[in-house]
Formats: sequence, structure tokens, C-alpha cells
Amino acid sequence: MNLTGRVAIVTGGSRGIGNAVARKLASLGADIVINYTSNAEVAKTAEEEIESLGVRCRSVKCDVSKFEEVQKMMDEVVEEFGKIDILVNNAGITRDGLLMRMKEEDFDAVVDINLKGVFNCTKTAAKYMMKKKYGKVVNMSSVVGIIGNAGQANYCASKAGVIGFTKATARELASRNININAVAPGFIETDMTAVLKDEVRDEMLKSIPKKSFGKPEDIANVVAFLVSDLSSYVTGQVINVDGGMVMQ
Ligand code: NAP
Repeated sequence: MNLTGRVAIVTGGSRGIGNAVARKLASLGADIVINYTSNAEVAKTAEEEIESLGVRCRSVKCDVSKFEEVQKMMDEVVEEFGKIDILVNNAGITRDGLLMRMKEEDFDAVVDINLKGVFNCTKTAAKYMMKKKYGKVVNMSSVVGIIGNAGQANYCASKAGVIGFTKATARELASRNININAVAPGFIETDMTAVLKDEVRDEMLKSIPKKSFGKPEDIANVVAFLVSDLSSYVTGQVINVDGGMVMQ
């Protein structure tokens, strides 16, 4: 796989899965843009690490749930890098709670970032991809968007929405040579899952045939395939990367 000369935007690329994806794509030669909302220092360190791999990297403060901020980021990327070849919609949050206790703002925050954020970034990046007749988009869903999970109605709804969005946009943009796929991770060791109690982790482990949790690099490897030209004939698909947790 070779991504030399490609320009990739990885949302939420300063930490966790997004950071592993950004580093993987950089190791294959792509110039990288990462965005973040809260921690500029972490993003700066990530930017320097990625640049040390011999590519250009820029970190941008941008909340994916705000359309104007996303539009500005895309315009700036094209001004500086000339194009957008690859978009990895990875930024996401959880605000877990049982339905009866879930506050309206917890539902809205999760859907705004996890689903509307994907709309905001895809719409604004696709405009540039269409002009160049080339694009690869990968959306980060989750296996719980397929099977559901008690205590995550907001998160599961957002991730199921991402799958529908992936399939609809894949159909719309296939004729423009833009491939759009989703990855559905299972349980991956990041800050997001570090907050879970040991009992929850032990219970989850029982449902994973591979009997281990995934690493961010496991997701990054599949994303690399999906943004490379090895997957030119793959679009509108959801690939589970979950140690066999969910088999369809
Ligand atoms: P993480 O470690 O919590 O990192 C989340 C990233 O998203 C951070 O870089 C964060 O930036 C960014 N982000 C959050 N809100 C944002 C916003 N409004 N605008 C822009 N960036 C924002 O999460 P992760 O575990 O790596 O998860 C990455 C993706 O994989 C998410 O979509 C998640 O739902 C999905 N996923 C994860 C798992 C898992 O087991 N970990 C399983 C299935 C799916 P800041 O540093 O600025 O906050």
C-alpha cells in the first residue's frame, strides 16, 4: 500500500483510534490533517510525531458538530494542501446512561458529534473530492450500532445512523469515484473504554471469540486498506473489526 501524495483528514486524530489511523496513513506516505476540540497540547505532540514520519501534518481546532467550523477547516486544508483525497470520520463521544435517566442534552450531544459531525465533514469534503473525481471516506461506526447495547441508546442510535449515512452517500457518490465505507470496531483499548468498570470489561471479554480486546492499530490497518487503491471496488460496506464479537 502506498499513499504518497495523498492528503488525509482524520477527525479526532490526536488520541486513540484516530491517532493510530493518522500515524498509519502517514507511515504509508499521506500528508495528514488532524482535528481536536479540547487538548491543544496533545494535538501538537501528535502533529510532531506524525511529521517525524516524513510527511506534512497540521492539527486544527475544530468541533465537528459545528458546520461553520468544519467548512472553514476544509477550505483551509484545500488552500494549504491543494486537495482532500481521504476523510476518516473518527471523532466520537459517549454519554452513557439508561433511557429513563438519560438527559436530553446527553442524547443531543452524542448525535450532534457522532452523526451530524459525519454529515458536516462529508458534505464539505465531498465538494472538493467531486471536483477531483477522487475520494475515500471511512466512517467510524461501532458494533453496538448493529446489535445495540443497554445504557447506550444515544450512542447506538448515532452509530446505526452512521451506517445508514454511509450506504446512502456511497450510492450517491460512487459515480464520482468516491468510495464510502464504515468500520465497526468492537471493544478497543482507548481513553473511551478505559473508564469502564472491570465487571463490564470482564463481561465483554466473554463475548469475544478472540478472547482479547482490540488495539487502535487493529482498526488503523483496516482503515488503511479502505483508503488505499487496493479497495477500489469496495463501497457502501461495513467492516466489523471486533475479534469475532458480531458475525453477520
Ligand atoms: P477517544 O480516545 O475518546 O478519542 C476521541 C477523539 O475524538 C479525540 O481525539 C477527541 O478530541 C475527538 N473528538 C471528540 N469530540 C469531538 C468534536 N466535537 N470535534 C472534533 N473532535 C472531537 O475515542 P476512541 O476510542 O479513539 O474512539 C474513536 C472513534 O471510534 C469514535 O467514533 C468511537 O465512537 C469509535 N469506537 C470506539 C470504540 C472503542 O472501543 N474505543 C468502539 C467502537 C467505536 P479531543 O482530544 O479534543 O477531545
